[in-house]
Order: sequence, then C-alpha cells, then structure tokens
Amino acid sequence: MREVKMNQYQEHSANYKRLETDSLFVDFEQRAEFEGCIEKAFRFIHDEQLMNTALWKRFAAQFRDCIDSEKGAWRGEYWGKMMRGACFVYAYTRDDALYQILEATIEDLLTTQDGQGRISSFRPDRELFGWDLWCRKYVLLGMQYFMEISENEALNRRLVESMCRQVDYLIEKIGPEEGKKHIFETSQTWQGLNSSTILEPVVRLYSITGEKRYLAFAQYIVSCGGTALGNLIELALEDRLAPYQYPVTKAYEMMSFFEGVLEYYRVTGEEKYKRAVLNFGRRVMETDITIIGSAGCTHELLDHSRVRQSDPEALSGGVMQETCVTVTWMKFCYQLLLISGEAAFADCMEQSLYNAYLGAVNTGKALDQDTPQKEGYILEYLHFDSYSPLLPGTRGKRVGGLQQMKDGHYYGCCACIGAAGIGLAHKAAVLCSRDGVVLNFYIPGTIRTRTPEGTALRLNIATEYPADGAVRIAVMPEQEETFSLALRIPGWCKAASLWVNGEEEAVVCGYHTLTRRWKAGDTIQLRFEMETCAIRPVPYGRDTVNTEMDWKADRLSPKEIVESPENRLHIAFRRGPLILAADARTGVDPAQPVDPLTGGDGTVKLRLLPPGAVPFKTILAAALPLRDGRELILVDYASAGKTLREDSRMAAWLPVLSD
Ligand SMILES: [Zn+2]
Repeated sequence: MREVKMNQYQEHSANYKRLETDSLFVDFEQRAEFEGCIEKAFRFIHDEQLMNTALWKRFAAQFRDCIDSEKGAWRGEYWGKMMRGACFVYAYTRDDALYQILEATIEDLLTTQDGQGRISSFRPDRELFGWDLWCRKYVLLGMQYFMEISENEALNRRLVESMCRQVDYLIEKIGPEEGKKHIFETSQTWQGLNSSTILEPVVRLYSITGEKRYLAFAQYIVSCGGTALGNLIELALEDRLAPYQYPVTKAYEMMSFFEGVLEYYRVTGEEKYKRAVLNFGRRVMETDITIIGSAGCTHELLDHSRVRQSDPEALSGGVMQETCVTVTWMKFCYQLLLISGEAAFADCMEQSLYNAYLGAVNTGKALDQDTPQKEGYILEYLHFDSYSPLLPGTRGKRVGGLQQMKDGHYYGCCACIGAAGIGLAHKAAVLCSRDGVVLNFYIPGTIRTRTPEGTALRLNIATEYPADGAVRIAVMPEQEETFSLALRIPGWCKAASLWVNGEEEAVVCGYHTLTRRWKAGDTIQLRFEMETCAIRPVPYGRDTVNTEMDWKADRLSPKEIVESPENRLHIAFRRGPLILAADARTGVDPAQPVDPLTGGDGTVKLRLLPPGAVPFKTILAAALPLRDGRELILVDYASAGKTLREDSRMAAWLPVLSD
C-alpha cells in the first residue's frame, strides 16, 4: 500500500477556488475499507477492468490510429473517461499495482502528442469536427484527475505543460475572432453541445495555471451558451422550461455542460451561474429522474421520464436510461452536494448508486445481445451494461457508444464511464464541513478522516444497509474534541430513530447534526424504518417532448405524446433505498399482471427470504403477498437481469389488472 499526500485545495490545484464557494469538501487523504455490495463492486471494477493493461494500450492507440476522423466518432473519449474513473477508484483501493499501470498509460499517452500540441483521435486534416473536442475534453480531464493521485512532481509538471499546449492549440483555432472556427462549428451533432463541454477542463486548467487566456476561452464558451439553438444558461436562469423542453435534450452532454458552468462559477464567483446550475439540477430531479435514479426513456434524451418511465408508449426506441446518464447524474449531484450542502443531492446519489448503477455493473461477465450479431468483432464482455430497463424486458440489449477499434476489439461509452460511479461512493461517503464531518452513505466498514482541528477520526460502521435499516457507528477520534457530526437522514425514510450513547434524540430531516465533545468509543445508533412502499405511475394525460431527431439537419423537433391507457396499469415497490424487481430466474414471468396485497397506506408487508432462497446473488430477496394468497418473489433491482439474456427477463414496473 502506498501513502499519498493529497492536499488538493492548495493554490494551483484544480480545486482551490472551492474553499470560497463550496459548502462541503472532500478529504483527499480519506481512507476507507468497505464491506458488502459496494466493496464487491469496487473489487470487480478494479480487478477486471482497470488492471487490464491491454485496454489501456488499446485506448491510447486511438490517438495514433486516428480512425475517429473517418466518421467523426468518439473512440478518443475512452482513455480519459476510464482514467478519471480509475483515479477515483484508486483513491479508495490505493493499490500500488494500479497506480503503476496508470502512470505507464499516462506516459504512453504523452508520446501521442504531436508537434503542434494536439492529442487527438482525429488527423490534422480532418480535425475539429464530430466528437473531436469531446474526446479532447476527456484527455484533459484524465490528466487532471491523474494529478490528484500522483505524487510524481516532475510528471505532474509535464502534464500541465502538455495540457497547456493542447488548449493553446484550440484557442488558436476556435473563438470569436476572424479566421477562427465558432465552437459550434466544431461539431455536427447536438448543435455544438458536445463540444461546449470542454468548458470543464478549460476552467480547471485556469485554476491550475492561473493563466488568464484559459479563463478568457472559458468566458467565450460560456457566452455561446451551450447550443446554437438556445442559450442553456439563460434557459436555466429563467427556470420556465424543464430541461426536457430545451431545444437540445441529449441528457449526458447537457449535464456535462452544466458541470462546466459550475466550475466557471467557482472561479468567477458570479452567483448567476450557481443559480443556473442549481435550477437545472432541481428541474432534472423533478421531471426526469426515474425510480432507479437514471433518466431518459427515449434512448438517451431527457423526455419527462419521471411520468413516462412506466408508459410502454415511451419506449419506442427500445432502450432507456443510458449508464453514461446514470453516472453523469451521480457526478452532477455530487457537485451540487459540495456546492449547496443539501442532503437531497446525496439522496439522489444513493438512489442511483444502489439501483441503476449497481444494476449496470456487469458482474455476470455476459455479452450484450447485439454485438455478437455483428461481423468481425472480437467478442469480449464489457464491464458495464449500457441501458437499464424498467418495464418487462432484458438488460444487455446493446452497447452504448459502440465503436470497433483497429485491432478488432470494441468498447463503449458507458463501459468507460462506469468506474467513476463507484469511486463517488467512496468520495462522498464522508465529506468535511467547516465545523466537522458529514456522513452521507451508510456503507459497512471503516472510514478514516480528520476533524477540523486535524485530529485523526475513525468511524466504524456496522450495518447490513441497504438491506437493513439498523446502523451502529462507533466514533473514534484520536483525542477528545468538539466538532459536529452530521448524519444524512435519507429522504425516503418516513420514520428514523437515533440514539447517542444510548440516549434517544428527536430526528431532524435532511442532515441531523450532532455537535458535542466526541471521545473514542462514543456510539451512535440509527434505525431507519424500512417499510416497503408501493409506487404508482404519475398520470400525465398529454405532453410535448423534444425527441424527434433529424440527423441530417441536426435538429430535434417536438413530438406530441398521449399517455397510453397501459401507463397507469403498473406498480413498483421500494424498500428503503432499494427498488425491487421480478426476475424470471425465480420462476416468474415479469410481464404477468400481479394483484398485490397492499395496505390502505400504500405499504406492503414483505416476507424477507434467507440467503440462498433464489438461485443467484442478491442484496435482498423477498416474497410479496398477493391477494389470492400466493406470493411473488422480488429481488433488489440491481441484482435482477444479470445474465443480460431472456433467462433473466426482469421488470421493476410490474403490470397490474386495474388502477
Ligand atoms: Zn454511454
């Protein structure tokens, strides 16, 4: 194990402005040892994906092969996206072998920088079109996040120099001046939104270097507003439309753009940008986030998913809820949590983590259903599945962002972004506030952090969460000290109880803050009532969504939608943070209508099943009582469907006979 000293808030780090703007902070030296489903996901991603040197070589080779230039594709995003996730995962595992692999691939990548400073998967004669800028963004972000885990000062200096040359080249070619390309002209899709997301690493490079030209370039991108069809920042400030009504509705790219706007707020301190980002985030939360914490029923577009997720009519594209959207939403909520200190954003992260996200981790190592139909692809399972079904269906329908590389292997956008999601479970589990620490996620294990005075603080968390609501926390400061310990009371929880050293306290919603003189051995006990609630679809009648894509004109046009009668004929169940699902492997047909025995208050009495009761691994398995006296077996959503085939056909929205 390797000790890393990471003071990422000092001057000339990408984060130092956050000391003035943010409410919560990351302890970059935090160490954790988790148990249970989160630990298992970390190990799978670390061992199977990030330690795979062939993948890193292949992704770096895209900057030599440059086959993205042929059709304006995005193979150049794979390296930086996975590097960001790898750095997040490394912050948890601190595995020296992983660090060596990452340093080696950074060196490999640096050799692809050409004489003009470009690191691009596009040839110079066919550059600045398609997804070129998007891919360059990920190269920059990969380098910036590597700097957060690297102690190699000489290498870090070379990375800064490399990034400056990369961005200087872009500034020379893109901008408002005569003879330069408008940023929207560097892409032919999504009205320039994908290119505009380069804002995020440009602002961070400004924080690292203090060079005004990067701030000026960021200012230019912000002034363009994200898309050629409308200024997204202005739309968010007006707060009249929901994001699914914006002129461009590509979910992942839009959230990425607003991540950049938030970074821009942090360096300028201009309040309106913070307001725009918070408005946007809250609107997405209200209108597009589904029960499993992802968004977008129409392929990868925001489309009022909150009401449409249970409507078979909405699923015309066949797939919904891209894993890139899940992870970007988690990252976005993480940023909103840091900036605002509002527990609701941690609630959102948890909802995505235990449901959509863990569901997408391809622990079954299964091939998707689509790629084997293609000719000439070297078949190898990908580490993340790309889309998450809610209505009766299967996982593994196809690979999002699928691209074949020169050596015959292929990869996808969602598989590359995945690692960042689990990394956030560690980063945000405990955060620092100005007067103490904030505990967001109840992951069993040990977390070592520091108090505001710098005293070492260990938190031992004993729990079966998310399968059970009893949590016991031993607070172990190295010496007695007065500080605040804020505990997140999950938004889904209607009744929570709390004891400090055996004495009960009345629980406050959101964060329950305990300020006292803590000494080693103080214990906190929490009990979150884990009742099982029935969730019914939200009737919507009719609506207009912006989902009709004309690829040639690069334009979305509005589509009138009418709620289908089937929409209301669905029911879903949530127990604590877990959404439940039917899985054909338990002998049920997930498309068969059910008649559950629900109480007048909308809750059901589940009978929990012992481990081994269903023939596959689950976080939770339970029997749902039906009105005819029989029972239906349900498991947690994330464990359902894992063969990516018909044999594990699944559904979270179960059909019912009447509403
Ligand atoms: Zn994707």
